[in-house]
Amino acid sequence: MILPIVKYPDSILKRRCEPISSFDGYLHKLAESMVETMYAAPGVGLAAPQVGELVRLIVVDPKVGEESAQPLILVNPEVLWEEGKQRGEEGCLSIPGLTSVVERPFHIRVKAQTLEGEPLEVEGTELLARILHHEIDHLDGTLFIDRLSPLQREVLKRKIRKLMRSGEW
Ligand code: ZN
Repeated sequence: MILPIVKYPDSILKRRCEPISSFDGYLHKLAESMVETMYAAPGVGLAAPQVGELVRLIVVDPKVGEESAQPLILVNPEVLWEEGKQRGEEGCLSIPGLTSVVERPFHIRVKAQTLEGEPLEVEGTELLARILHHEIDHLDGTLFIDRLSPLQREVLKRKIRKLMRSGEW
């Protein structure tokens, strides 16, 4: 089921999400709907608070739209280590149509669980590292807008206010 995506500045996006302890049918259904919602958007990643669920679940797919697309579903993801830095243009499905240059680690390793509760580790560089870091940020109420310089943030917020005034947000 395609779910509505919560948009900035909804306060739900600022909340810290709860760890998941029940690997039940509800969790499977939520993950399935999140993957469907990510592909429909389309986007390369989606975190549970973006569909209004304050739990630690993310879905990621750097190959969205390609034949080799394969969603990565991570329950309770945590960054184990990170190294290096990368700067690149980044957007967010909760801040549609707007992007900014954001600094992220170049290489990260993430510890998580599968939908069955089995331990899982994922390592990524470049785009995958950027997406994983962006989505895990969501679980702590952090948006890419929070990682910008004050000037970059003001420019972006001004654009959003303008869109809101014209009823396009
Ligand atoms: Zn996002």
